This record gives sequence, structure tokens and C-alpha cells, in this order.
Amino acid sequence: MKLIDTHCHLTFDDLAKDIDGVIERSRQAGVTTWLTVGTDPNENQKAIELANRFENMYAAVGIHPHDAKTATGENMAELKELAQNEKVVAIGETGLDYFYDNSLHEDQRRVFADHLNIAAELNLPVIIHCRKAFDETIEILNEHGRDVKKVVFHCFSGSAEQAKILLTKRYYFSFTGVVTFKNAEKTRKAVAVIPIDRLMLETDCPYMSPEPMRKQKLNEPALLIHTAKFLADLKGMDLADFAQATTATTTAFFNLPSKNI
Ligand SMILES: [Zn+2]
Ligand SMILES: [Zn+2]
Repeated sequence: MKLIDTHCHLTFDDLAKDIDGVIERSRQAGVTTWLTVGTDPNENQKAIELANRFENMYAAVGIHPHDAKTATGENMAELKELAQNEKVVAIGETGLDYFYDNSLHEDQRRVFADHLNIAAELNLPVIIHCRKAFDETIEILNEHGRDVKKVVFHCFSGSAEQAKILLTKRYYFSFTGVVTFKNAEKTRKAVAVIPIDRLMLETDCPYMSPEPMRKQKLNEPALLIHTAKFLADLKGMDLADFAQATTATTTAFFNLPSKNI
């Protein structure tokens, strides 16, 4: 069985300082491919460096909506440059976060649109972070994302109704351990309407360990197995079949070498 963690932050200090142990435990758990996601200019550099160190590790480059306020035109030009590295398989994470509101909405919208333009130009998928900003995220995608071929909503925690809207737009979904939480009934209803060929897995580590490991403060890719088991059950599928299906979806979505399947 081979699982892919499509969204992790392996460059963040707590994981980076024990990276060999993190990767070893992940492989033992059957999680054998990783997409480490950049969040600012410095992390983007580190993500590419790390991806170059490990086989089956890839990078995404982006400026998180939290940091949109500091993103300059120069940063975006540099990001476009970095995105052409052969280990970079996606643009992101980008999008809108009106929950934490760490950047002005105006800055978030501008930087999000810039990411969509780069993704369209380089023909790369986009990883969307969307929190308390569903309608406006769709609006910006409609306006600036017409030429973007592949879009995934990461850490999807919306409703079944919202999932249906994204499905009509042929977007994808990835789920974190949040779906295993007791209070995530709304998200589980969304899972029910999402076909298996639109669904991917992620830890978003170091954050949000899945149940029954939620008490482990530092999440890591090895724990993806718990989210995979939980979702396989929810879909009424055998874990091996579920793993095979989500890995095939992910491999095609990010255009990874097919040895992963
Ligand atoms: Zn995010
Ligand atoms: Zn993230």
C-alpha cells in the first residue's frame, strides 16, 4: 500500500529538525510520497531544497494568505522562477483566510489572483486554502482562474452543498485529520457526495493530528494512515482499494511519475 501526503509542511522547524526520523516513520506507515508546501519566500526555497534531498518528495510554492500583506511584485516574480524547478508540482498554498484575517482582504485577493495567473502560465495545479471565504474564493477563481486546469481545495471543511458547487467546476478536494474529529459531521456529509476520483489525502502537519492520535501535538505524515482508514470506512471501501484509488487520483492530479501508483 502506498499513500501520498499531498499537503505537509516538512520545512517547519519541529519537523525539519528530525526529518530523517519523520520520513522513516512515514515510510513504515505506508506513506511513501510527500508534497511539502511553501507558505512564504523563505519556506519556498527550503521546500525545494528538501524535495531535492528525498526521492518521492515534491514541493509546492506559494505565499499563504496570512502573509499576503508582505507579498511584493518581486516576491511573485521570484515565485514564478522557483515554480519552474523540476521538483515543483503545484502553486500554493494560496487563497483567502477571512477567519484569522492576518492580511487585509484586498491584499489577499490581489496575491491570490497573482498565483492563479502564474499557475495558468506554467500549467501547474493550484492548492487553495479557503477559510470563511467560500463565495469570494469562487468569485476570484471565476475571474482569474479560467485558464487554470487543476484546482484542489485543501483541508476541505465545507458543507455538502459547497462540495457540490466545487464538483460542478471539476475541482478536487483534500482532507486532513479534521474529518476524524467528533464535531466534523458537516465535513463527513461532504465526503459522502464527493466521488473517490476527486478525493485526496493530507496531514497539513505539523498541525491537527487525526483521531485517535489527536493528543500527539506534533502531527507528521506517518499519521496520515489514520485519516486514510477513517475515510475508507466512510466510503465503505477496503483500505487497500481506497489507498490505490486516492494515490492514482493524486498521481494524475499533480502529474507525478507513475512509479508512485
Ligand atoms: Zn492551509
Ligand atoms: Zn498548509
